[in-house]
Amino acid sequence: MLNENLTEGPLSPMQRAILEKWQSKIKRSVPQALKDVLQTRFAGEVLFDEPMSRHTYVRIGGPAEVFLIPQSREALMMAVRVALDHNIPYCFHGAGANTLVKDGGIRGLVISTYKSLTDCHIVEQNDDHIDIRAEAGLIFSQLIQVAKEQGAADLAPFVGIPGSVGGLVKMNAGTKTREIKDVLRSLTLFNREGEEIILSREKLDFEYRSLKIPRSSYILDATFRLQELVSPDEVAALMKQYQEKRVNTQPLDCLSLGSVFKNPVPRHKKEILPGAGRLIEEAGLKNIRVGGARVSPKHANFIINEGNATAKDYLSLIGLIRDRIKQNTGIVLETEIEIVGEDR
Ligand SMILES: Cc1cc2nc3c(=O)[nH]c(=O)nc-3n(C[C@H](O)[C@H](O)[C@H](O)COP(=O)(O)OP(=O)(O)OC[C@H]3O[C@@H](n4cnc5c(N)ncnc54)[C@H](O)[C@@H]3O)c2cc1C
Repeated sequence: MLNENLTEGPLSPMQRAILEKWQSKIKRSVPQALKDVLQTRFAGEVLFDEPMSRHTYVRIGGPAEVFLIPQSREALMMAVRVALDHNIPYCFHGAGANTLVKDGGIRGLVISTYKSLTDCHIVEQNDDHIDIRAEAGLIFSQLIQVAKEQGAADLAPFVGIPGSVGGLVKMNAGTKTREIKDVLRSLTLFNREGEEIILSREKLDFEYRSLKIPRSSYILDATFRLQELVSPDEVAALMKQYQEKRVNTQPLDCLSLGSVFKNPVPRHKKEILPGAGRLIEEAGLKNIRVGGARVSPKHANFIINEGNATAKDYLSLIGLIRDRIKQNTGIVLETEIEIVGEDR
């Protein structure tokens, strides 16, 4: 165990945070003996040097040293315990619709329950609302279908947002109409001590495109409270409208990660700022490219992979856009996408 190796007593939260930061810099690789144990004993899929380009929507990314797909909650917990006990870096991954993995790949364990932990069922239902609980690995669009069959329209604005339940909750995904925080009732977190903790919406710290949870906590499942009860046909019509809007404004036939930059936040109530896409378009940056990465001609906040883009191309284009917008407007754009891994 971490603290037994390094200190005599338990660590304070601050000591633990310092230790984790220091450990993450050491970047230990997975010893062969441990790889052998994982291969024979792990309840789930174990992939070595797995190209992350197979697990990201933009089809970019170097190899994960070990990619684990646990078949059960127990296997997930084992994966995290193994990483902690052997002081090996680890990270979580959903469907990869918001993640850019650098070309050198990811050292340590990448743990994903995408399409493996997918239970979904109604936990409460009355005339006012329906509560549906879904596990992290469920494809979010399947949850939308379940809600539609129940005649609940609350999730219709999420139509077309790719990803897993865990990923959408972690990113507080959404649109101007609705975000995850508006429909979430509670979630179950698995923490580094191996406990499952249920947290209600009131206890959760959501921000624009982010839910703040400790880095080492995994979202096991989420319960959604749906209150816009109509008929399945009405929900289907609404979903169609949202999908059409997306098709008309976004390059859905291209490889991308959705919006690359967050919209800038006004510094005071009266300030009205253009969205990131508009800023990029007004700077004349639509269509520019670096290597195989190109700013979409259809939506300037989307950077598309034209087929052979590397993470380096993608990041260079991000840097170029950021510099130009700062030069032109003084606004520093923040990325909405998650960037992980190491340079080659
Ligand atoms: C074409 C396109 C359109 C998009 N449109 C939108 C949009 O309209 N609105 C919007 O908000 N986003 C949009 N996105 C971005 C993306 O769909 C969302 O961010 C989505 O939430 C990503 O889910 P994921 O499962 O792919 O997460 P990943 O990219 O796999 O992971 C994202 C983050 O969540 C963490 N994570 C994943 N699962 C868990 C878990 N179970 N527990 C703890 N942490 C976890 C990962 O470690 C990572 O930090 C779009 C993307 C594309 C490609």
